[in-house]
Amino acid sequence: MSAEILILPGDGIGPEIMTQAIRVLDLLRMDHGLEVECIPGLLGGAAIDATGVPLPPETLNLARQSKAILLGAVGGPRWDGIDRDRRPERGLLQLRSDLDLFANLRPAVLYPQLADASSLRPELVAGLDIMIVRELTGGIYFGEPRGIRTLGNGERQGFNTLVYSEHEIERILRVAFETAGRRGGRLCSVDKANVLEATMLWREVAESLAKAFPQVTLEHMYVDNAAMQLVRAPKQFDVLVTTNMFGDILSDCAAMLTGSIGMLPSASLNGSGQGMYEPIHGSAPDIAGRDLANPLAAILSVAMMLRYSLDRADLAQRVETAVGAVLDSGLRTADITSSGTRSVGTAEMGDAVVRALRF
Ligand code: NAD
Repeated sequence: MSAEILILPGDGIGPEIMTQAIRVLDLLRMDHGLEVECIPGLLGGAAIDATGVPLPPETLNLARQSKAILLGAVGGPRWDGIDRDRRPERGLLQLRSDLDLFANLRPAVLYPQLADASSLRPELVAGLDIMIVRELTGGIYFGEPRGIRTLGNGERQGFNTLVYSEHEIERILRVAFETAGRRGGRLCSVDKANVLEATMLWREVAESLAKAFPQVTLEHMYVDNAAMQLVRAPKQFDVLVTTNMFGDILSDCAAMLTGSIGMLPSASLNGSGQGMYEPIHGSAPDIAGRDLANPLAAILSVAMMLRYSLDRADLAQRVETAVGAVLDSGLRTADITSSGTRSVGTAEMGDAVVRALRF
């Protein structure tokens, strides 16, 4: 039976890059026996325009039934004036939360062909291959109470709550230990245990779980130092695991080391084998509709979906190899261009990957 994949193009460049990702899936279906059925759905600004809400009930139902979700990106200036709780990004947060997609895997891999595009010197980043495991459904982005209140003296005060319970910490750390066990066997847990009680508990749970993973070496690092080390000597890391907000920031920082946020995919997994796959970038309204967006992060998100939700590591490898071959051939979208390469648009980059997959 075919696995059902929910396709949510979203807003801005989302539809453009998803068109290319779907072409890759279609080719794998036709030429390599991939059994999937793609079902389109609405999320974000596109859903607000069509239904008035960023996460319509139909989308939520389809998402609950699907094996995996492939998402473009949501948001844009058109919806920035809307009430905070009804904005496009809120729909995405609700979806992650409803499906309990607590484990966000964000690889930061530097393709050797793009070493010049990195913000660091090539020798510091050549061969970079880090996996950041970010807790995605808890912490300060979801903690209650939250809000903006007016104090007795009339001054307004914004407040949020950083809260983690033991089971939330344990399950994300377990994913991280398992991931490190399948890679280089080194796990760095990033916290701020010198200041924040929630992450003191995080560190305690990490220490106690480490006993179940003797093949993995665990170290702890404060988040300020981790930020510094990521730009000083990033190759020291294998797998990093951290809280929702720290992971949000550190993974964007790691992304820049690889040259472009247009190259990086991500996976968000729950405990029952469901996953949502999306590029780490946003909807890039500044370049939307101009055939300028890099579709490779979306295409590499398909590869992660093949590996983590569809049990087709063989096809994931094929897609990654095809992307490498296209970069070898010198084709670049504007975000990763450098001298001696040929600039192409979104569609032509997609064509090239599909062609490389045929061989
Ligand atoms: P962004 O990631 O959309 O863009 C940042 C910069 O990177 C822009 O200059 C953009 O042109 C460039 N860029 C991004 N993706 C690219 C690609 N594939 N190819 C080439 N260049 C690319 O971040 P932003 O500008 O801060 O946010 C824009 C909108 O996206 C906002 O509404 C924000 O809320 C939303 N957003 C959505 C998600 C998501 O859907 N997961 C994530 C982040 C931001």
